[in-house]
Amino acid sequence: SDPLLTVERLSVDFDTPRGTIHALRDIDLEVPKGRILGLVGESGCGKSTLAYSLIGLLSGNARIAGGAIRMTGTDLTRATARQWRDLRGQRISMIFQDPMTSLNPVGSVGRQMTDIQYRDRIPASEKRRRAVEMLEKVQIPDPESKLDVYPHQLSGGMRQRVCIAMALLTRPELLIADEPTTALDATLEVQIVRLLQDLQREIGCSVIFVSHHLGTVAELCDEVAVMYAGEVVETGAVRDVFRTPAHPYTQALFECDPARIREATRHLPTIPGTLPDLRQVPEGCCFKARCPRAWDLCAAKHPPLYAAGAGHHGRCHLLAEAEASA
Ligand code: SF4
Ligand code: MG
Repeated sequence: SDPLLTVERLSVDFDTPRGTIHALRDIDLEVPKGRILGLVGESGCGKSTLAYSLIGLLSGNARIAGGAIRMTGTDLTRATARQWRDLRGQRISMIFQDPMTSLNPVGSVGRQMTDIQYRDRIPASEKRRRAVEMLEKVQIPDPESKLDVYPHQLSGGMRQRVCIAMALLTRPELLIADEPTTALDATLEVQIVRLLQDLQREIGCSVIFVSHHLGTVAELCDEVAVMYAGEVVETGAVRDVFRTPAHPYTQALFECDPARIREATRHLPTIPGTLPDLRQVPEGCCFKARCPRAWDLCAAKHPPLYAAGAGHHGRCHLLAEAEASA
């Protein structure tokens, strides 16, 4: 099917007093319509930067250095403030790790949930009815009474449910979730993930789920993109990438038995070595300093994304031969 959103050679730089960080480089990615795409990688790999660039919320020292983000004919990297007002919270919504990022501490839940429907020319009573209905869907008990409550009066789990309700109230085409369960305990995490899954099916939106919990990604997502040092190093269907990871970085993440990842591992395993300094992007493959399989070519030539199977790609020279013989 057609993608909802296509990222083409997107590059993002951060200007810092100590130099320019090339945080994202030539990202190519398709977000399929009505499916859930997981974005995984260790901290600093650029997954949040990518998520924020898709909703036009990059920080002040960040700059789109090249490329495009296309959604139904619009290049989001060129969207004006006015266009973003029609997009953000309406066609593209986001939920954050900390629910207070998107909640107004001095506004009641009901007020915030009716305000977000400002584009709908319907009576206030209808907006309240929709808000209650959505709070019910995210399984908030006694939703009617919660309209008068302020965010600080709710628990962390309840606040995140309110954020999900608000994000989906406008029936967006794309929901971006940046580690929305990281701050919650494991039981709540499971509940929230189930909820997202059910609501995504009902609304039919696309979801980008940023996470470093491989088990959750295996459970929730249809597709996955693995990021390393500001690049996408592997993409494909979750079942293919988890069963037969093509890139040595992904293989290292799955070093332990994939079946165990599903159940136990809450966070990415630690791989020896550190991310390269992205002020001076290394020549060749970005993973070469940590890669057990690196050879001469890896230092000399930057690997493109090679085919590793149907709809499965990896950025590693080891795949070149497989592609040539396919
Ligand atoms: Fe390792 Fe070379 Fe593949 Fe990079 S290109 S992941 S260094 S084998
Ligand atoms: Mg992050």
